[in-house]
Amino acid sequence: MESYYIWTVGCQMNKADSERMESALGQMGLGPTESPGDADVIVLNSCVVRESAEDRVIGMLTSLKPLKQKHPEKVLALMGCMVGPQTKALQKRYPYVDAFMQPQQFGRLLEIVGERIGIDPEGCVGPLTARADVATYIPIIHGCDKFCTFCIIPYRRGREVSRPVDEIVLEARMLARRGVKEVTLLGQNVDSYGHDLSGSIDLGDLLSAVNEVEELERVRFLTSHPNDMSDHIIDTIAHLDKVCEHVNLPFQAGDDQVLKNMRRGYTNDEYRAKIERIRNRIPNVSMATDLIVGFCGETEEQFERTLEMVRDMKFDKVHAAAYSTRPGTIAARMMEDNVPHEEKQRRLKAITSLQETVLTEINSTLEGTTQEILVEGRKRGRWFGRNRNDKLVYFDEDINRSGEMVTVKIERVGPWSLQGTLAV
Ligand code: SF4
Repeated sequence: MESYYIWTVGCQMNKADSERMESALGQMGLGPTESPGDADVIVLNSCVVRESAEDRVIGMLTSLKPLKQKHPEKVLALMGCMVGPQTKALQKRYPYVDAFMQPQQFGRLLEIVGERIGIDPEGCVGPLTARADVATYIPIIHGCDKFCTFCIIPYRRGREVSRPVDEIVLEARMLARRGVKEVTLLGQNVDSYGHDLSGSIDLGDLLSAVNEVEELERVRFLTSHPNDMSDHIIDTIAHLDKVCEHVNLPFQAGDDQVLKNMRRGYTNDEYRAKIERIRNRIPNVSMATDLIVGFCGETEEQFERTLEMVRDMKFDKVHAAAYSTRPGTIAARMMEDNVPHEEKQRRLKAITSLQETVLTEINSTLEGTTQEILVEGRKRGRWFGRNRNDKLVYFDEDINRSGEMVTVKIERVGPWSLQGTLAV
């Protein structure tokens, strides 16, 4: 048994879990491979946040059945949010899967691999880390306590559990020594970090501690919640030199009644006030958001308020999704998913096209400026990286500049990326 193949769907949290799984399998002596056909261990890391994500996992599971039947010696594991506390139904439906593991519960697969290769995982698997790319992710808090009515996360990832500051700083230090220049501190709600730890520690304190890791150049954090982003957190972001000026603050819907139905815990006015506060206190901050169109009962008039919000707030990034019912959530139990599919798609298109106009306007102000870019790698024959505001920038260069901080003069701008040349 020598190789593994990990297939990941969904959010950054899932990608971070997959990298930890890679880290564990690597410590047991297995190496990565490019296709399930070549792998001894196949892991599907699943997502159920949206129906489309779940459908992709089901498609992949089904397509792997003939391979597993032909090669029963291969180990097939399903992990992530599709695996709930009760896995019986999944076991019945996919009897050819060897291990079902909830998020971060890697133990069962490591046991099976250990049995096959004759070693005890407890003895050889140490601390798990992310992949040492130029920019990588460190989970700081698992789970979520909010129970928004549309969201399955609290049921699948459980209640909030913060990792201790020391453990996170140690991981950041280890990654920095392996060449990582930028870490993103990750959680479903990073602003509630620390409430379950002893002492009064919050995200601001953690950012201050990670900011001290010498070899790191940049620190980011994802995702925030309007109700938990305190002035202390905002001011800390403003004052720390490595912490980038970029905040992802989901608003989800522009209408107060829809917000109430979603149980988000704030109003449109309160959200706007929070954005104003962030923009006043963090100079040159860029803002991203998440929103849902077509939530149960959302009228045209209510949707217009979401459009209005996108028009007024001028976000640098909008992650928009059409609502889909997730079995087990409060909305699935108590509300009717009554906005037709075509209407949801029309609303989604309206948001995307408005945001394209907003971004064209915002990015046009960057033409002719110079931007400090951390080079992450090559894509389609060009080097790419991001500025502190998380803007994607492409440039041409003959020498490998990966991992370097370079200055790029912006010559062309589009809504989704900027293009330029290296400034000398
Ligand atoms: S804050 Fe709401 S939407 Fe975000 S993970 Fe928690 S329950 Fe889900």
